[in-house]
Amino acid sequence: MKKKAFRCTHCSQIYEITQVHYRCDVCGEPIELEAVTEGNIIEGNVLKQNTLERYAEFFPFDGLEKEVTLGEGFTGLVNGNALAAQIGVGKLYFKNESQNPTWSFKDRGTYVGVQHALKLGYKRIGTVSTGNMAPSVAAYGRKAGLETFVLVNKNIPPEKMNPISIYHPHLIKVEGDYGKMYFESLKIGQENDIYFINSDSPFRVEGSKTIAFEICEQLDFQMPDYVVVPTSAGGNIRGIEKGFREFKLSGLIDRIPKIICAQASGCCPIVKAYEQGVKVVTRLTHTETIAHAIENPFPPSGNQVLRMLEENGGMAVSVTDDEIVHAQGLMAQSGLFVQPASAVPLASVIKLADLGKLRKEDRVVCVLTGSGLKYTAAFERHALSSDSCKLEDLSEFIKEKY
Ligand SMILES: *Cc1c(COP(=O)(O)O)cnc(C)c1O
Ligand SMILES: [Zn+2]
Repeated sequence: MKKKAFRCTHCSQIYEITQVHYRCDVCGEPIELEAVTEGNIIEGNVLKQNTLERYAEFFPFDGLEKEVTLGEGFTGLVNGNALAAQIGVGKLYFKNESQNPTWSFKDRGTYVGVQHALKLGYKRIGTVSTGNMAPSVAAYGRKAGLETFVLVNKNIPPEKMNPISIYHPHLIKVEGDYGKMYFESLKIGQENDIYFINSDSPFRVEGSKTIAFEICEQLDFQMPDYVVVPTSAGGNIRGIEKGFREFKLSGLIDRIPKIICAQASGCCPIVKAYEQGVKVVTRLTHTETIAHAIENPFPPSGNQVLRMLEENGGMAVSVTDDEIVHAQGLMAQSGLFVQPASAVPLASVIKLADLGKLRKEDRVVCVLTGSGLKYTAAFERHALSSDSCKLEDLSEFIKEKY
């Protein structure tokens, strides 16, 4: 691997990347890879490249374990002109991460995490998740031929469990305080030679940089004003900001967009701290939202997201379940069916435009983190209907009715 180190996001303590490390031993905060300051895009045919080939100079690997890719990344950036006009912002773009192999952006970070695990000689990987991280790690573990451990909450419903089980990982329902499992898993991993790829583990965060890289390329390096990211643990938003930062440091773009941390008001620990002007996130004791994918009551990267927003000049905003469901409907009316968590960015744009916090000329990118089919229970929140008719009457029916 290239000569790079992990650096603590808070106290700047340095750690070697030739060993697994998740958090700072000194202050307990998340660590991240030192920023790349002189990278370039490796031009090529994206039908044949994968993200770690095109953006190889922004990652610390010398060569790749090629067979591991499942074709993650290189997702569409869809124009939302009609919605932009309706809402009163300059331009809207939707980065459609539901196009990934397991239908969420998680695959980008899982791919990078698996590369690191393989480089360090691990035969076992794992994750703690009942959400999208679980099927992603299970899928890549299978592809890479690694023994894969997925630790889930004992109350996990079948519709969440089956899409994990289909890849046949070691799926363990764990009794006890699920909130502690993230921290416990780091210790369990050490004791059992399991490389854990959790919500904000450093290489998973690295994987999200490619979302920013692609947005830059898709907009011909004309930076948008804002990028809105639905946020739970805080790994994805950190990676996206770091991606823009590294392109700026490398001279590929001339400014970094402002980042908006978007949460559901039923679980918004980062927004609460941001609004109170405090520097640390407090654990919530009760949460309730339809946006389950972003329902983390104690985000492990929460404090770092607050520091990042301050540096970046971004904002944090929360929206209600009704606003989320409404935005999910609007998204579908634009042809994009996303899960409730991924409708949170559009709901946030609507709210911020109403509050006058977005200007009429602002160009805004919403990151659509995962597919609508991940949470079909949300259908109940929409007034869905159909008509019926006999075959012999069909032509007349259409003429009369529509
Ligand atoms: C994981 C996830 C998020 C939140 O990402 P974090 O890195 O935990 O902040 C948002 N949306 C979807 C659909 C997710 O699966
Ligand atoms: Zn530290």
